[in-house]
Amino acid sequence: MKRLLFTLIILRLTAGYSEAVDIRIGFINGAESVKVSATGYMDIIDLATNEIISTTYGWSGGFVKATQEGLVLKDIGLFTNPVLLKPIVGAKALVNGNRYRGEIEIQKNGNGIKVINVIDLEEYLYGVLKSEMSAKAPMEALKAQAIIARTFALANLKKHEQEGYNLCSHIHCQVYKGMDMETDNIIDAVDSTKGQILTYDGEIAQTFYHSSCGGVTADVLSVWGKDIPYLKEVYDPFCKASNDNWNYTISLTAIQNILNIGNISSIYTDGKDSGGRVKNIIIEHTQGKATIPGNKFRLMIGSDKIWSTRLTIARNGDKVTFQGKGKGHGVGLCQKGAVSMGTLGYNYKQILGFYYPGVYLRSIVFEEE
Ligand SMILES: [Zn+2]
Ligand SMILES: [Zn+2]
Repeated sequence: MKRLLFTLIILRLTAGYSEAVDIRIGFINGAESVKVSATGYMDIIDLATNEIISTTYGWSGGFVKATQEGLVLKDIGLFTNPVLLKPIVGAKALVNGNRYRGEIEIQKNGNGIKVINVIDLEEYLYGVLKSEMSAKAPMEALKAQAIIARTFALANLKKHEQEGYNLCSHIHCQVYKGMDMETDNIIDAVDSTKGQILTYDGEIAQTFYHSSCGGVTADVLSVWGKDIPYLKEVYDPFCKASNDNWNYTISLTAIQNILNIGNISSIYTDGKDSGGRVKNIIIEHTQGKATIPGNKFRLMIGSDKIWSTRLTIARNGDKVTFQGKGKGHGVGLCQKGAVSMGTLGYNYKQILGFYYPGVYLRSIVFEEE
């Protein structure tokens, strides 16, 4: 099996992609102990010596606990080195009740435990998609999402380099909960786009996406101040039918408390891009004047309250009402539009090309370690 290196330049953008490639997903970091078992036979390997410490069947009621001396494996012993749980003959490992494909690496991390799933990149994607898009979405939209998730994973291999893995299992990277999140549709979507990623100018593309643009996507420049040629405004007729209109009312006092500023005398928007997204929110208060970038303000108040920066502000006494369209930062692919394109019969290439104009779809192959 070939392995991804932290430093590797992966792309030889040609030929096929048939080799399995492992990725390291850190999914527990700091717990005192973890419950571990297997659906069948499992080798337990000392990672410093590569020797098999034990071969168990099931290991029901098994757990691993961190102590001063090392890792205590219930009924097996105390080990000072990291251990690898390697299910064999088709078995799967369970950690805290969730099934995982691939292998499970357990390390001591201070007084806690760090658990890493060493898993084939494509099998990792099986467990990711459902947290990103409904498994009932049209197949072509799921394929587009699979390519986005694969591209994201490869573009961010160094995100947790210091912790000894590639990606975490939370929203910080991509939400991943193992095998129990898989569906037949999702597996089909991943398999039928195997190894395909988006690139631009020979580099892995940055595949941002969001729930709903409300009619036009955002230029990444106006959201995060970066100029990326394929992340510009796209007028989106596909999510129009289901424009997310929202409004949220909050008191000025509550805003003062959240932002930790003086008494607010006025609050207004400053500048909009051509899609109607607010560049800055200006707040005049007794201690001065705050200029807050629109998306930052949205996240400070709560992205579940102020859904997007395509908004207007109306004040009524001590209350302000934010009213807007769309949900999310607006950059890149609009999921609602992608689902609607899939329903209308567009294929995944057309969907990706629409939201990321100018990117290339490539197949990857990996260099030998
Ligand atoms: Zn992360
Ligand atoms: Zn849209």
